[in-house]
Amino acid sequence: MSRTVPLDHVRNIGIMAHIDAGKTTCSERILFYCGKNYKIGEVHDGAATMDYMVQEQERGITITSAATVVQWQDHQISLIDTPGHVDFTAEVERSLRVLDGAIALFCAVGGVQPQTEQVWRQSEKYEVPKLCFINKMDRTGADFMGVIEEIRAELSGNPVPMVLPIGQAEHFEGLIDLLSMKAIRFDEASRGVKLIYSEIPEAQRADAEKWRHYMVEKAAEQDDAVLEKYLGGGVLTDDEILACLRKGCISRALVPVYCGTAFKNKGVQPLLDGVVKFLPSPLDVGSVHQADAPEIVRRPDDSEPFSGLAFKILSDKHMGKITFVRVYSGTLQVGATVLNTTVGAEARIGRLFRMHANRQEAIEMAHAGDIVAVVGLTKTRTGDTICDPEHPIVLESIEFPAPVISVSIRPASRADNEKLGSTLHTLAAEDPTFLVTYDPETSETIISGMGELHLEIIVDRLRREFNVGCEVGRPEVAYRETITTPVEGAYKHIKQSGGRGQYAHVCLRIELQEKGQGFVFENEVKGGNIPGEYIPAIEKGVIKAMEHGPCGGYPVVDVKVTVYDGSYHEVDSNEFAFIEAARVCFRNLFLKGNPELLEPIMDVEVTVPEDYMGAATGSICQRRGRVEGMEDKGGVKLVRGFVPLGEMFGYSSAIRTATQGRGSFTMHFEHYEAVPFNLAEAIMEKRRKENKVR
Ligand code: GDP
Repeated sequence: MSRTVPLDHVRNIGIMAHIDAGKTTCSERILFYCGKNYKIGEVHDGAATMDYMVQEQERGITITSAATVVQWQDHQISLIDTPGHVDFTAEVERSLRVLDGAIALFCAVGGVQPQTEQVWRQSEKYEVPKLCFINKMDRTGADFMGVIEEIRAELSGNPVPMVLPIGQAEHFEGLIDLLSMKAIRFDEASRGVKLIYSEIPEAQRADAEKWRHYMVEKAAEQDDAVLEKYLGGGVLTDDEILACLRKGCISRALVPVYCGTAFKNKGVQPLLDGVVKFLPSPLDVGSVHQADAPEIVRRPDDSEPFSGLAFKILSDKHMGKITFVRVYSGTLQVGATVLNTTVGAEARIGRLFRMHANRQEAIEMAHAGDIVAVVGLTKTRTGDTICDPEHPIVLESIEFPAPVISVSIRPASRADNEKLGSTLHTLAAEDPTFLVTYDPETSETIISGMGELHLEIIVDRLRREFNVGCEVGRPEVAYRETITTPVEGAYKHIKQSGGRGQYAHVCLRIELQEKGQGFVFENEVKGGNIPGEYIPAIEKGVIKAMEHGPCGGYPVVDVKVTVYDGSYHEVDSNEFAFIEAARVCFRNLFLKGNPELLEPIMDVEVTVPEDYMGAATGSICQRRGRVEGMEDKGGVKLVRGFVPLGEMFGYSSAIRTATQGRGSFTMHFEHYEAVPFNLAEAIMEKRRKENKVR
């Protein structure tokens, strides 16, 4: 089966926005304008398929909206879902990894809000070209030029308006298209499907000329030959302007800006034209290469060996485990065997689907640049590379932060017991920032995630979606342990209890690593003092000791451990003896290295009306936090600070009480910091009493 859409007509994009800016509405309108049968509100009304249970339908939406394919002007646009809540930044990161371009959506009143700022920065990290859409132009206080200024000042973007609004707020009528220099209005009866073109209103003529000039100048700056022509007084053709703007957008030298109101059906179609005109196709993005070997490359071409990245996993009652894969090169066919190079396992492609707005289309083959849903990849996890077994490649994986909060969970009844375990594992497979562990000492199942809300949503899904009754304990902070001074020393594990004895002698050095650098193990043993076959056992012993740190039973992080000497016994040495020697040696040394407890620090943004500024800053300071900044944002105050996670439990009701219900906040994990000494002592004492320190 050959491809139906040429590769340069493929767009893989996402919409990034602050909550409430209108992402859902805008996505729905995109489906509506692109779709043949799609009706606005169809999915949300639940009117589409009445026979399904509500929850199943909710789930159906999740499945299709993970990556929905639409057609716009002979182009295939895959809309990849990026979640709206800051708790799920890892989700945002993973979608940014596989998309080629993005629409940054702003509220015309709110402008650049905290989350847009954060996601914008993330998108820059992944070098994702962007368009801007300034939504809600119909709202009182809408300010197109104001938001443009904020994009420039706060996001260091280089915004280039492609349209100007005709009127703002209640007077918002339509757009001036600066490319065609026409006014566009949107026929209300057809919900904006029909565009009505006319001359630019006289009052805005001069303004339109000015911004057209600005656009042409920005375009010319993108190409030396065109710039020369322009500066020499030449008139640029529309094709030249478009080609230069496209070049500028793809190289992230500029961001084309559109505006409208998704809700009132104005401006979404010109935005879609912009997606096609300016955002890159997989061809523009170019080749991918092996993470640690840049010379192993795959071009975005159907004739190349297949390579792809699994970026999202969902489980469905009917279809089982669904893996969303971005195909970077080659083709993927039903029945083919692929190699997962990350875990080293082969799998057969059971079924392939393309997700449309309201249906799943089974396909036989996916091509380079496609985003597809695959059934049959049982062992594949998020971030894994799958490829042609004859031509292995390992693409860079997706990094996820470690969870910062845990709670114990148990089944409400015996009947729920079995279901709880299997459902938790299903959910953990979908979400790489959600972990399930079992503590055999306390017989507790512990779930860990990125915030209180993250775990609350999971527990809610367990109950509502999977009908598993469960009870949860109090949330606990995921502390870490590390040392502050380097230490070295030896330990001998000797046992002579009848029969064969045990002997292992290791000398270890523990050094500090930069925060967040993780664990490194090195072998410097010389002259065969410890035979090479025992070195992995020593590493195993160290890792075992690090799982439950000696201070509070928390994981040890950011240390480099070197085994530099030791000895062995011909008869009595074995793997077990070296594991034990390394474990005890690490433990003893760690306690001499002035250990400290680390706690997750959250970046907290509190939004309050002006009168409650004091309450907001106070609430941060009272919680061992520090205020990092204050801002005015569309008539409300925004207070930003860093607060230890341990102090944030119950914050949402506290801030509501303190502001008579008018304050709100968002938070996400920022970094780990040392816990103050007195507090650390108290935490460790409590852990010892609970028998959590082994
Ligand atoms: P999301 O949280 O970004 O997905 O935002 P939604 O699409 O759910 O929109 C949030 C709220 O804003 C909803 O009540 C929408 O009806 C409303 N909304 C969305 N777009 C517009 C718009 O263009 N103008 C106005 N006035 N309201 C809008």
